[in-house]
Amino acid sequence: MKIGFIGLGNMGAPMASNLAQTGHEVYGYDIAAQPPESVRRCTSLDEVIRDRDIVFTMLPSGESVREVSADIITLMESQKTIVDCSTVEYSVAQDVAQQAQTHQINFLDAPVSGGSIGATNGTLTFMVGGALDTFNATKPLFEIMGSKVVHCGAVGSGQIAKICNNMIVGATMIATCEAYGLASNLGLDLNILHEVISQSSGFSWTNNVYCPVPGIGPSSPADNDYEPGFAIQLMLKDLKLAQSAAHSVKLDAVLAAKATEYYQLLSDSGLAEKDFSAVMLRFLNSSD
Ligand code: NAD
Repeated sequence: MKIGFIGLGNMGAPMASNLAQTGHEVYGYDIAAQPPESVRRCTSLDEVIRDRDIVFTMLPSGESVREVSADIITLMESQKTIVDCSTVEYSVAQDVAQQAQTHQINFLDAPVSGGSIGATNGTLTFMVGGALDTFNATKPLFEIMGSKVVHCGAVGSGQIAKICNNMIVGATMIATCEAYGLASNLGLDLNILHEVISQSSGFSWTNNVYCPVPGIGPSSPADNDYEPGFAIQLMLKDLKLAQSAAHSVKLDAVLAAKATEYYQLLSDSGLAEKDFSAVMLRFLNSSD
């Protein structure tokens, strides 16, 4: 297949590289970053889009996805496919899909989880929204870049699944850190607490797999000075998308709102680039 890939940052570069290494012709374009070795460098949008069977985008924001997609739709032949893997407003996915449809171009929103490590190892989870036949035709490419691919429903539903998941993880991380902070202040051995929670009703991914306390549980960013992992600024971005989506349906998501404030505070205090489990630093410091 001839594949265009736009946005070759932390995520896009390894994803494009994994596609290229399975024998596909992959053409890459980025306004700043250089493509990885296996990806052919394009110097214009025109070059990366024309004559491609499919074009992937992996961009930082809804605004950039809207802008780039408008160009893709103008330059692409009908019956071809655009797949946006960025995390953006579900309404952006719906708007772009509608514009694509007027040119008989297929569109899927396919945000991912798994971070840059998952992108490099080809173990991302894809949450995909859009027509089932387009999804089925694209699935083999998702399976090169990921280990789990879920068709979530109509266009926009991939983005909705993604922000709902991160609402839970964002709030659960704070709850986990508060519990370890309390236990620490009350003198409980935190290894014992981990053992108990891991097998009790308080178990969660943030405790069992990604424990925010250094030296406790399996290896995690906490053991590496909170280097990401998944940075606070990315969690904050996703929680803001979730808040905006909640407002759009008048849902009072109190915990997610509080979690958003929390990560904003941490980001403003200079921790934006640290892993989101660095919430724990507030409680480790308070027990000093
Ligand atoms: P990044 O900033 O490393 O990469 C984005 C790339 O897009 C940059 O290289 C930038 O130069 C390029 N770009 C921006 N505007 C462009 C344009 N108009 N045309 C061409 N290229 C353009 O970001 P990332 O970490 O790779 O994340 C990409 C997307 O994936 C984001 O939406 C993010 O929320 C999502 N995401 C990231 C992670 C993660 O752990 N990094 C995890 C899941 C989802």
